[in-house]
Order: sequence, then C-alpha cells, then structure tokens
Amino acid sequence: MKKFAHSSKGQYRALAAVASTKRGRDAEIATRMAFFAKAYREYVKHRGNPWLMTGQVPDAAFRNAMAGMFGARLAALSYIAKLRNAARGRCCSMCGSLNSNQVDHFLPQHHYPEFSLFLPNLFPVCSCNQSKGNKTLGPDPGERFLHPKFDRKIGERALYVRIRCHDDAPTYTVVARKPKGVRDAAAFDFHTRTLVSHDALADHVKDGFERFCRRPGNVVRAFKRTNPGSKAVLTRLLRDELDESCWQHRSKNNWDSVFLHALLERRTLAWIWRRMSAPGRVAGSPLVRL
Ligand SMILES: [Zn+2]
Repeated sequence: MKKFAHSSKGQYRALAAVASTKRGRDAEIATRMAFFAKAYREYVKHRGNPWLMTGQVPDAAFRNAMAGMFGARLAALSYIAKLRNAARGRCCSMCGSLNSNQVDHFLPQHHYPEFSLFLPNLFPVCSCNQSKGNKTLGPDPGERFLHPKFDRKIGERALYVRIRCHDDAPTYTVVARKPKGVRDAAAFDFHTRTLVSHDALADHVKDGFERFCRRPGNVVRAFKRTNPGSKAVLTRLLRDELDESCWQHRSKNNWDSVFLHALLERRTLAWIWRRMSAPGRVAGSPLVRL
C-alpha cells in the first residue's frame, strides 16, 4: 500500500509515438487514437474506479496486440521499463511488502486492454498480484481495490501488528484500521482483506521481533554498544528508525514500518524498556532467547 503520483501528462503523446512505429500500426493503435483519447480522459475523470468505468467489450485480437505492445522494447514506452527496474525489492503498491518484482495493471489487461500502456494504470507489485488476478470488484456494493494514484490515503498508516506474550511464545495479531478521512470504507475493507496476506505480514513482524530480541543493535544501531538511558530515549531512537523507514519507502504501510510501529505500541514498548533497563544488562546482549 503506497501512494504514487503518476502523471497522465504526455501519455497520449507516447501512444501517438507508438502508433507511428510498424508495431503500433500492426496493433491497430493508429486507427483507434480517438478511442484511446476518450478512454484515457474517462480513466482520469472516474479515478480508475471500475464501478464507474464502462471499458470496452474485450476483443481477443485487440487484447493480444496490446499485451504484445506492453512487452515491447520501444523507446516511446521506456517509462514502463523504468517503472519495472525501479520497482525491484521496493514497497509493493498494493500490499506494502518489500518484495515488488513486477508491474501490474490496476485495471487488468484482460478486461481493459485499452489501458495496457497507460502509466496511471501501472504499478509495481509483489506476488499479491496473484490474489488480485483479473478481479476488479468485490461481491458487495462499493467493493474494489484501492488505487495507488487516486486513493489519497493509501500510504497513511492502516496496517498494525500487535505483539503479545513476549517471553516464551509471542503472538502476532494483524489489524487493518482505516486511516482518518477514508470515505470509501467498502473499498478499504475489500482491499486489505483480499490483498494483504495477514500470515505473511505476521511472519515479517515475527522475524523482525526475533532479530530485535536476539540483538537490539540489529535494528537500532545505537543499541550495539549502549543501552538507552531512559524510556524517552528508547522511544526517540525507535521513532527515528520508524521515520527513516517511512521516508525510505515513501509509505507508512511498508512492512518494515509496520514492524517498527509494533515495537512502539504502549505495552510492547514497556516490555522492551523493562528488558533493556534490567540491572546489570550488558549493552548489545539479547533481550530474551526466543
Ligand atoms: Zn503486494
């Protein structure tokens, strides 16, 4: 879950450049320019919302041609290659994992081939793309996926993991909570329920917490050699790491951020402070053996 500021400016020009190539003519793009112009305008107007978009009746030949163009290495389409290269190992725009490895069509090519090359419809994603597949809508009214460009709050903190029973067998509970100001509750619930793997997110936080307990300096470098002098210092150092992670990935819902935020939760923080401030504790030593 990450906000993108993809611009739709220059997209029609890029398409016109594709249309002037032999491949573009083969794909019949040149003969459909008026149709594309209308479709692109409609996409922006309706903010990519599949409940409002008419889409065109899928035509297998047109769909195949557009899919072929999506994979073509044309100079006019260099923005797709750039997006693909920049995506690797970064925050997934749909679920927040740090395993992006492909570019997804928000409105799937299968149903909306006209947006195969349209940048505002393209986003880096991880394997959660398999859960999305060719789906666009949920079964109930208003259910749809959040759009990384048009749903303003997609990068605001919405994913939380609560860590409990710290000593022997900690438990990890994933909670998705709507950020303030989210108007489209049905879309938010459908998106987090369908795309965010609670098991995978809990595992990510579990790995992080175990790494932290084994050696706190693995997560906060300052803890390698010194113990925090007060709970306020501990909080500030963890918060600095959290801010850094949010900035680095440009989203509060990247999974490292979810982990660091879990450490700052009131009861978890109190537990960490008790362990770190235990009399005689050697700086850098394990908090507990998990
Ligand atoms: Zn994902």
